[in-house]
Amino acid sequence: MSSLFPALTGVPADRPALRFGTRSLTYAELAGAAGATAGRLAGAGRVAVWATPALETAVAVVAALLAGVPAVPLNPKSGEKELRHILSDSAPALVLAAPGDELPAPPAGLARADVDVAARGPVPDDRAAGDGDPALVVYTSGTTGPPKGAVLPRRAVAATLDALADAWGWTGDDVLVHGLPLFHVHGLVLGTLGPLRRGGSVRHLGRFSTEGVARELKAGATMLFGVPTMYHRIAEALPAEPALAEALTGARLLVSGSAALPVHDHERIAAATGRRVIERYGMTETLMNTSVRADGEARAGTVGVPLPGVELRLAEEDGSEVTAYDGETVGEIQVRGPNLFTEYLNRPDATAAAFTADGFFRTGDMAVRDPDGYVRIVGRKATDLIKSGGYKIGAGEIENALLEHPAVREAAVTGEPDADLGERIVAWVVPADPGAPPGLAELADHVAARLAPHKRPRVLRLLDVLPRNDMGKIMKRALSHD
Ligand code: ATP
Ligand code: MG
Repeated sequence: MSSLFPALTGVPADRPALRFGTRSLTYAELAGAAGATAGRLAGAGRVAVWATPALETAVAVVAALLAGVPAVPLNPKSGEKELRHILSDSAPALVLAAPGDELPAPPAGLARADVDVAARGPVPDDRAAGDGDPALVVYTSGTTGPPKGAVLPRRAVAATLDALADAWGWTGDDVLVHGLPLFHVHGLVLGTLGPLRRGGSVRHLGRFSTEGVARELKAGATMLFGVPTMYHRIAEALPAEPALAEALTGARLLVSGSAALPVHDHERIAAATGRRVIERYGMTETLMNTSVRADGEARAGTVGVPLPGVELRLAEEDGSEVTAYDGETVGEIQVRGPNLFTEYLNRPDATAAAFTADGFFRTGDMAVRDPDGYVRIVGRKATDLIKSGGYKIGAGEIENALLEHPAVREAAVTGEPDADLGERIVAWVVPADPGAPPGLAELADHVAARLAPHKRPRVLRLLDVLPRNDMGKIMKRALSHD
């Protein structure tokens, strides 16, 4: 297939490629550093990357892809047990890390190699690699169970990045503000490999801050990729930070993904900046499936339309396609296309169960589709679909309604067994003012007035914080009902 990174040698040598904090590389420097690292990988079956938010991580992954050696990004904040599981599951030949990074004692037989971003070597020609060859093994976020290693072929990386370029008008002139970790597809594939494939630049904030976003956008960055918790912080900060509002107004593209962006935050940002955040929907296993298009209408609460090349359908429980795309009929999202992973590493049973006979991947996400093709995610089949009183109720819309109540800072909705209803709706709420929490009756009436009476929460549980993972996703399995 063609190169994954045609821009590496195809843009002016002094064009900025990557900046992490005060350290940066031009395209020529990145090509040389990745070439030098790639030269050390010959013959390796797989290589793990200690994926801190640093130049070394980007250089290591680009090097592996150029060398045709699958890269396995590791979350440096993983607990020892998870790390041991991932290392024995993926069996890398070595771990690439930044000099000075402290790694826990690697298992026997696993060597460590430091990435030297100042080294220079010839850039390997990656065009000999097949488009079905594995590029990355990325572990899922572990929101619903232990992380699974998704094997992503080179074709999936190329296809998803090119589909996003089409949807977003994404070019080498774009400069991305990045504040995400590099061990999931959002921060690694979209946020790092994406700009490098186009010939654009990445400015990584290290740690996300609203001041950092404002500063970089003011200094010429054009786009921001974030998770909903970041846009929530932006929405909260806007009233007191006029410079932030001004910077966001000037941005070309604000993109959210990895979890549902609450409608309340979307609307507050739109009101303060005149800009609508664009939502896209993807998974480790599928890379990106849908997005609101930059030239389309950004509607709060939707993840837009299928990307070019992605076939998307909604399925009933018996596997048949839903009969109506009417904005109301809920089904499981199934997708097929060049963006898909090939297998879960060492999990043939899980792989087989994930695909239908005709090759669609069962996402486990439930959605409705409007007549004009816009997809609205209702929630995950496993944790967000509440069967109560004969209705199938999505947690997401109730969470959105609760978040509009001034006394609610954060909200999560689950179902718990109920003798009468099958399941009853439970609202987990972090109050805006811990000294004056809202009451159940008040919240139930608030929800019933906006949605429908049967969607009112029956139980209210107050919390100081919601349990979230490193992508800010709510870990509903950690919300215990006792
Ligand atoms: P695990 O599969 O290990 O339980 P995970 O599903 O959270 O974890 P990821 O592959 O990182 O791991 O996340 C994909 C999921 O994130 C999707 O299946 C979907 O539920 C959710 N998601 C991603 N983008 C959006 C979005 N824009 N709106 C709503 N949900 C989203
Ligand atoms: Mg998942």
